[in-house]
Amino acid sequence: MKNLLESLVENNRIHVSEGKVASYIPELSKTNPSDLGICVVGLDGKEYGAGDFEKKFTIQSISKVISLMLALLDNGKRNVFEKVGMEPTGDSFNSIVNLEVKSPDKPFNPMINAGAIATTALIGGDNQEEKSERLLEFTRKITGNPEINYNEQVYLSEKETGNRNRALAYFMKSNGIIDGNVEEILDLYFRQCSIEGNCRDIARIGAMLSNDGVIPWSGERVVSREVSRIVKTIMVTCGMYDASGNFAVHIGIPAKSGVGGGIMASVPRRMGIGVYGPSLDEKGNSIGGAHVLKGLSDELDLSIF
Ligand code: GLU
Repeated sequence: MKNLLESLVENNRIHVSEGKVASYIPELSKTNPSDLGICVVGLDGKEYGAGDFEKKFTIQSISKVISLMLALLDNGKRNVFEKVGMEPTGDSFNSIVNLEVKSPDKPFNPMINAGAIATTALIGGDNQEEKSERLLEFTRKITGNPEINYNEQVYLSEKETGNRNRALAYFMKSNGIIDGNVEEILDLYFRQCSIEGNCRDIARIGAMLSNDGVIPWSGERVVSREVSRIVKTIMVTCGMYDASGNFAVHIGIPAKSGVGGGIMASVPRRMGIGVYGPSLDEKGNSIGGAHVLKGLSDELDLSIF
């Protein structure tokens, strides 16, 4: 496995020059566009890494999967999907237009920014600090990494410049989709996006999901089989932005990407995969990462379809 991963990284490194690192969050523009790495975590707990798999990055939109799991645990399926839908959009992740024109009562799904902000608003806790701590503790548990933390620079950089998300959140407040203090909800959303980890950390999240909600290395159940199924299904239909259809056809693995360059993938009952490559295509997906995943999927016949 290790040799296979190493050759996939080396053979696909060439693609990183076809994309660009995200710069709309100023702090992200400092990442090295040539980085590329992958880690695979099997359900027997074995881990294999290649390339820059130990480099840290902010998980950005991959955190939407974490906040969705937490919101489902805290509120149940019915209450969550009363506030946010489960349909793909075909529009970019930070699109505003749908919210006013097509779906003013409910953002389309929890993987676009509007839906993710509405989901984050459902995370339980008596105060802001408790919510932020719960999010971190849950992430530490599902990654098995007690050192997971927020990246303060990236958090502050997005908080300072995230006016599009602010617009989405205030619009949803005015329509009654979110309750509570908008700035606090946004603050928690910006924090979750700044959670920092490496390929191994996100591969472990994928492995827990592929094991139907049970952490493979400890045997502990962290989410129900139903929550794990809901999350993986939404990853297939909405996880790769408005390229989710293309990704399903060519790679066929439930996955969620983030503009930090990570992709967390979960092959049901087989393995979790984490890839990292901050050079992004025009949809916001890691360009080298997607090529590496395609190679792995072809080689090991991982498509679920
Ligand atoms: N923090 C980013 C934003 O809200 C996350 C976007 C992403 O990774 O897709 O714009």
